[in-house]
Amino acid sequence: MKLSQEHSMMKSKTGYIHSLESFGTVDGPGIRFVVFFQGCPMRCKYCHNPDTWKVHEGQEMSVEEILKEYDKNKNFYKKGGITATGGEPLLQMEFLTELFKAAKEKGIHTCLDTSGITYREEKKEQFEELFRYLDLVLLDIKHSLPKGHKELTGQPQEPVLAFAGALEKAGIPMVIRHVVVPGITDNREELETLGHLIAKFKNLCGLEVLPYHTMGISKYERLGMEYPLKGVESMDKQEAKKAKEIILEVIKRERS
Ligand code: SF4
Repeated sequence: MKLSQEHSMMKSKTGYIHSLESFGTVDGPGIRFVVFFQGCPMRCKYCHNPDTWKVHEGQEMSVEEILKEYDKNKNFYKKGGITATGGEPLLQMEFLTELFKAAKEKGIHTCLDTSGITYREEKKEQFEELFRYLDLVLLDIKHSLPKGHKELTGQPQEPVLAFAGALEKAGIPMVIRHVVVPGITDNREELETLGHLIAKFKNLCGLEVLPYHTMGISKYERLGMEYPLKGVESMDKQEAKKAKEIILEVIKRERS
């Protein structure tokens, strides 16, 4: 084997990274180093990161390069860790697995923020490999009704729930995230259905109900894209709180 070939085999893979955030406080416990992955197959109408949609953009980085950035402030992350978000990190499954494997070898807490949309039963083994290095998942359920999910995201809901089932089987704690959008995901039927869908998961350890906001609009303008939810007002925090109570009521009822 030639030396150059040997070198390229030893070199770690690279991933397409949109950006890194050193002091994340909303994506998992403690202060976190947040890695935004490029690429997403969903097209959520309220997405505020449309610049992450294309996979082969952003910066190509190796696991070592990312962890070197982590190390610069590692004392801050003692009660936190690394969170992979995006975009959709599962689109770069192999690289994500390598990153989390290396993080776990250093004793770093790992958290994945995902929609679970790429999950397929035939790729079960690959997912199980990733699960070995995963401490927590923030699973975004965009819409609790299959038809609404398709309309809101352009993708079917079924893989998302199958992913939640696989996490439960692997015993990985799961926090459900849900954005409440006026006129789309703020009605009682949608919220109660969500409660019903997630109540059965034994690995459910939290629920974050987030109010829709319009802060992403300027990005659409910069990218020369039409914003799909033009005219929809930001959701009031109190309304989002009420929506959470509706979901929790169902969970409590079904678990009692
Ligand atoms: S899953 Fe996230 S990144 Fe992808 S379109 Fe939806 S909101 Fe945007």
